[in-house]
Amino acid sequence: MKSMNSTDGKGKKRIFILLGMVMMLCYFAIFGVIWLLMTTSSQELRQVMMTGFAALFVCTFLLMGAGLTFLVIGLLRRSASPVVQKIGRNIVDFFYPMTMWVGRLFGVSKEEIEDSYIKINNQMTVSQDRKYRPEEILILAPHCLQNTNCPHKITIDVQNCHRCGKCSVAGLLDIAEETGVNLVVASGGTFARKLAKEYQPKAIVAIACERDLTSGIKDMNAQHIPVVGVLNERPNGPCYNTTVQICKVRQALAEFIE
Ligand code: SF4
Repeated sequence: MKSMNSTDGKGKKRIFILLGMVMMLCYFAIFGVIWLLMTTSSQELRQVMMTGFAALFVCTFLLMGAGLTFLVIGLLRRSASPVVQKIGRNIVDFFYPMTMWVGRLFGVSKEEIEDSYIKINNQMTVSQDRKYRPEEILILAPHCLQNTNCPHKITIDVQNCHRCGKCSVAGLLDIAEETGVNLVVASGGTFARKLAKEYQPKAIVAIACERDLTSGIKDMNAQHIPVVGVLNERPNGPCYNTTVQICKVRQALAEFIE
């Protein structure tokens, strides 16, 4: 089985790093413009202000550079120290809104950046190399995986699924049964958060689209619950008869299970 750490979307992870670097350059360029504007005056007070501004900008620039370095170290080394991991993760979350902004400026789609964020999160989670008992792990699946013609109420209890094989839910149930992990199907983000609270898992394998995975991962990170995200596939468009590659869910689970 290939490790998610080494092969899953190497190029996509670079998007986030590159946009972070571009953002730093933009930041420096803005500073240059302000500097030029201020140097047109020769008053003493303005010089003091300029020095203050320069110190502030340079410090922030160095902090951002250090943060990006920690992030890259965290991504390159599978067993990077928890401190490096924590700083890297905080930097990712800190950069996220700005990265979105810079990405839009350079024509990088929101989905690509979200995808990159998910890949980075997955690698950082996997790098922690923490293992859990099956009952401490929760597979959180979206309701849109269920075949729309299915009459069974699987959001109330996933065991109501008759495993006819017309959608991915049957495969997920097989995994849950084989491994002993918990499986729930949520009808939306709010319900998913409610279920996560109810089950109190120590680790989550979440299946969803880019947008829902990104917001879910951020929420769970804030609660210090590690998440590995698996993207669903949308051959019929968003939120309708979606599917997931069962082997990818197994692969994600293998990173957590002891
Ligand atoms: S696999 Fe389960 S959830 Fe999917 S259509 Fe069949 S019975 Fe319904």
